[in-house]
Amino acid sequence: MTFSQKLDSWYNDFGRTLPWRGIDDPYRIWLSEIILQQTRIEQGRDYYLRFVEVFPTVADLAAAGEEQVLRLWQGLGYYSRARNLHAAAIYIMNKCGGEFPSSYEGILMLKGVGRYTAAAIASFAFRLPYPVIDGNVYRFISRLYGIATPIATDAAYKEFEALLLKKIDRRHPDRFNAALMDFGSLQCKPVPDCAQCPFADECVALRTERVGVLPVKIPKAKPRDRWFYYFDLRWKEGGREHTLMEQREGKDIWRGLYQFPLLETDTELSCRQLQMEAARFAKDNFQLSSFDYQLSPPFLHQLTHRTVHALFLRVELSSPPAFFPEKTRVLSMEETKNVPVSRLIDRYLHTL
Ligand code: SF4
Repeated sequence: MTFSQKLDSWYNDFGRTLPWRGIDDPYRIWLSEIILQQTRIEQGRDYYLRFVEVFPTVADLAAAGEEQVLRLWQGLGYYSRARNLHAAAIYIMNKCGGEFPSSYEGILMLKGVGRYTAAAIASFAFRLPYPVIDGNVYRFISRLYGIATPIATDAAYKEFEALLLKKIDRRHPDRFNAALMDFGSLQCKPVPDCAQCPFADECVALRTERVGVLPVKIPKAKPRDRWFYYFDLRWKEGGREHTLMEQREGKDIWRGLYQFPLLETDTELSCRQLQMEAARFAKDNFQLSSFDYQLSPPFLHQLTHRTVHALFLRVELSSPPAFFPEKTRVLSMEETKNVPVSRLIDRYLHTL
């Protein structure tokens, strides 16, 4: 049996049934692929279903406001994916006449779409023979052929792509790619059950006892620590409790999401330092000269390249602050539930 026949036979027995499988709508396939980048299938499935319900077509997504898209994305993390999705939908409507690009190169032009996603859309929606290469596929193929090139590098991508281009089923690239992805994630797992594997008799890693060392990965840099001190100013007005929030700007994490006014430092502040820095921050930003605050328990939020240590300073005011920066908005506590926020802010709001 050839590689693709063996793979297909395994897929027949063990392949997954997913809402975005067996369809050829490029918009829905694209949505699923962007959602599933850095997200587990179980979690991504709900988000995918919600997105296609709220935005059934690319025109609906393009017509939405970015805030609405971010709000629907809330909890998935890596918010640049949502912003790119929205920007690409607008691009398709404005520059492609509302037609989803149907060539690999055209798909690659979409913001947030890399080689892996372009190959997935091209093969699933348009039956074009581009192999998908994600972390699971790297693991399976590197073990099967004993390839020790460090993965997730440009050299590795070219090497694996050239190899898989010789193996891909050109009549059914969609099915081939779905099988490849499922095999890497369900059978050739980090700790695989090789006794049940249809490729066991030809697997180089198994024969040479290198299953545990392949694929070769380049060690990741240690995440950088950041300390966030949020100011949760509260006062009552018209019988309702209010606070101040602002949208994050600049090229940084959580751009476009709402947060409490933030004092950020490179090192952890002692109690004394925090008192001094908080006094300075409150004077500069809200012209508050004297105030008390209550500190929240510490929150730790782990991102791929950063570790965020957060504390929330709750300040009770008898009336609205007389001054606050222009970018800051007054929100009732009810309204804070309707704006997009990071998982960290959401966790804090839920502890109240
Ligand atoms: S024999 Fe084991 S390591 Fe080799 S491809 Fe199969 S599951 Fe992966």
